[in-house]
Amino acid sequence: MAKVATMHHITSKLHRGSSADKENVMAREEEKRKLAEWQAEKQPLEIAQIKRDPQSKPVGHSSKVLKCEDFDLVKTLGTGTFARVWLAKLANLKGQDETKVFALKILRKADVVRLKQVEHVRNERNVLAAVAGHPFITTMVASFQDHDTLYMLLEYCPGGEVFSYLRRARRFNEPTSQFYAAEIVLILEFLHDEQGVAYRDLKPENILIDAEGHLKLVDFGFAKKVGNRETYTLCGTPEYLAPEVIKNTGHGLAVDWWAFGILIYEFLVGQPPFWDQNPMKIYEQIVEGKIRYPSAMSPDARDIIAGLCTVDVAKRFGHTKGGANAVKQHPWFKKINWDDLYHRRVQGPIIPHLRSADDTRNFDEYDPEPKDREPWGKEQAEKWDWQFKDF
Ligand code: AMP
Repeated sequence: MAKVATMHHITSKLHRGSSADKENVMAREEEKRKLAEWQAEKQPLEIAQIKRDPQSKPVGHSSKVLKCEDFDLVKTLGTGTFARVWLAKLANLKGQDETKVFALKILRKADVVRLKQVEHVRNERNVLAAVAGHPFITTMVASFQDHDTLYMLLEYCPGGEVFSYLRRARRFNEPTSQFYAAEIVLILEFLHDEQGVAYRDLKPENILIDAEGHLKLVDFGFAKKVGNRETYTLCGTPEYLAPEVIKNTGHGLAVDWWAFGILIYEFLVGQPPFWDQNPMKIYEQIVEGKIRYPSAMSPDARDIIAGLCTVDVAKRFGHTKGGANAVKQHPWFKKINWDDLYHRRVQGPIIPHLRSADDTRNFDEYDPEPKDREPWGKEQAEKWDWQFKDF
C-alpha cells in the first residue's frame, strides 16, 4: 500500500513538474515577445507613468523568468571596474524575422562583493527601475539574475559616448551645447524633483547618443536617493567633483548642478575649467573656484556657468530658489521649447552614422573576458544572496 502511495506521489510530482516547466517556458516566451515589442517602439513615457511601480509599468521590472540563454552576446560595448556591457540579441524569438538588439550589463556577484559594491549595485538597479521610461536616460527594460551573476537589460544606444564626438570636434558650438545641456536639465529636474536622486557622476563619458541624436545618460553606479539629506561617500571624477565633496563636509543634490556647469564649460571650450596632471592640484583649484573664461564665450554662457559653479552651495544656481525651473528660464536657454524637447520633437544636432540597428562602429574594441571566473560558493550565496533578492 505504502509502495503504491509513493508511486502515486512520484507520478503526480513529475506531472506537476512538467506543467510548471511548460508554464515557465510560456512565461519566458511571453516575456521575450514583450521585450521585442518594446524594442520595436521604444516609446518614452510621461512623467506620471514613469513614477508607477516598476513591476506594473512596461519597463524596469525584475524578471523571474529571463535567462542569459535568452540572448546571444555579440560584442563587448564597454567595461567598467566590475561590469561588462554587451551588445545582446534576443535569441530564438519565434515569429520575428528582425533581430532585436539590447545592451546587456553583466556583473558577477563575486566581483561585486569583493570590490564592496553591493550597496552601489543595489542603488543602481533600484534607481534605473524607478526612472525607466525617461526619454533621456538609458531605459533598463528588465533586470534578472542567476546563481552567480546579475543582469541589467538596457536599451542599446548605438551612437556611442558624447565624449568621442566632443574630442573629435574639439568643442561644440553654442546651439549644440545648448541642446545637449537642455536635455540634461530635464534629466536633473526629474531625478532631483521627482525621485530625490543625486546622480553624482555627470561627465561626457557617461552620456551616450541614441540613433536619433538624443542623449541617454548611462551608469547609475553612483546614483543615490538622498532627498534633502546629506551623504558623505567620496565618488565622482576629479575634474567634475564639487567643492563640498572634496572638503567632505557632506553633500547632496547640488553636486549635480556644479558638475552640470563644468559640463557646459567642457562642451563650449573643449576641456574642463579645472585641470592639472596632478589630481591634488585640481582639487585646490576647485575649492578656490576661480574660472577663466575664453574671450569668445557669450555673456549668457558665462553667467550660467558662473551661477552653477558657485562654491557656496546655498548660492548655487539650480539649488537656489526656483531650482531646475530657474535654470530652464535662464537666457542661455531662451531658444529651447521645453515641452517639444521632452517629447523628442526637436532633431538632435549630431545624428550618428549607422548601417543597421546593431552597428557597433561607435564603440572601441575590448579584450575578451578572462576565462577563470571566481566561484560563487554556497557559503557566499548564504551570506550575500538576500542582498540581491530584488534584482
Ligand atoms: P557602465 O559600466 O554602465 O559605465 O558601462 C560601461 C560602458 O559600456 C559605457 O561607458 C558605454 O561605453 C557602454 N554602455 C553602457 N551602457 C550602454 C548602452 N545602453 N548602450 C551602449 N553602450 C553602453
